[in-house]
Amino acid sequence: MIYLDANATEPLRPQARAAALAAMETGGNPASVHQAGRAARKILEEARERVASFCAARPADVIFCAGATEANALALHALGHDRPILIGATEHDAIRAAAPHAEIIPVQPDGQVDLAALKSLLVAHPGALVCLMAANNETGVLHDIAAAATLCAEAGALLHVDAVQAIGRCNQDWLALGAASLALSGHKFGGPPGAGALVVRENLEIRALIKGGGQELGRRGGTPALPAIAGLAAALGAPYDAAQIAGWRDEIEQAALAAGAVAIGAGAPRLPNTICLALPGVRAETQLIGLDMAGICVSAGSACSSGKVTASHVLLAMGQGDLAGQAIRVSLPWNADVEMVRAFQAAYEPMARRALRKTVQSA
Ligand code: PLP
Repeated sequence: MIYLDANATEPLRPQARAAALAAMETGGNPASVHQAGRAARKILEEARERVASFCAARPADVIFCAGATEANALALHALGHDRPILIGATEHDAIRAAAPHAEIIPVQPDGQVDLAALKSLLVAHPGALVCLMAANNETGVLHDIAAAATLCAEAGALLHVDAVQAIGRCNQDWLALGAASLALSGHKFGGPPGAGALVVRENLEIRALIKGGGQELGRRGGTPALPAIAGLAAALGAPYDAAQIAGWRDEIEQAALAAGAVAIGAGAPRLPNTICLALPGVRAETQLIGLDMAGICVSAGSACSSGKVTASHVLLAMGQGDLAGQAIRVSLPWNADVEMVRAFQAAYEPMARRALRKTVQSA
């Protein structure tokens, strides 16, 4: 099996596995006052310090939760309850579902946020909460968070950054740039699934979405998933050879273009590991099945729970029309190697040529 679906979940890092197993061995509940509780608490607070230092925040401003779906929902609940909400057109469903009535900030055809439109929306909606992703999960396109943060600061708006896909691959000091909060998720950078965090700017009051036993300073109830949190912290800052991965990304892209594919978002600044490839007239599902039969794991834009592939809202927002249902995402993992790249090419190119030939014949 060749795993090229890192944006869905990165393979577990060895240091994350070791830290998670050690936390599991330790046991105990960090809320307990006895020595087992104190041992668990030590693991939790060390993880918190590590996340804080990585995000240039204070440990008290790190709120652990179950992942980025929850971290994003918490940000919207805590910071957006009395503000108009503006979200990027290509945000993840974690944001879209938590803010169903939000105003949509359009993106340019290359997938980057339309800053002029954001500026107008900020005038029309004073004191808004703006939600933008640092990097898109389908295309890898990076938003200009620094410019968006400046516009938000000028307008007195708050900016929440969904940093899930950028962390570990393309880090920035989002809080220093002016973000009020950022969401991260351990399994997207080599930690185990089940832990994430909302990291907030100093002194920002966060009212709990999930209330309970007063954990996380009353901002998120529930016993923390200590092994997943320990793994998350251990995976943060692990080595990542962005230049090598971007080199392979470019090789795959060039060969795919030669086979008749269209690379979406390729003109914009992008994550080093992500490629969005469309084959005109060939349904994404057909491509996924063809590649799966060759042992290659990749994704389509968006898939509903039945597993049926639907047109991607991200690509539709970029004005891609029919291609929105004809694109796959190849996302190289941190442990990619040249064999994986060659295996993908060996499977993709004949599949693409065959599928495109069929489309022409049936036209
Ligand atoms: N935000 C983005 C950009 C994502 O790609 C994802 C997961 O695909 C999420 C949020 C949700 O993360 P989690 O799986 O931790 O709930």
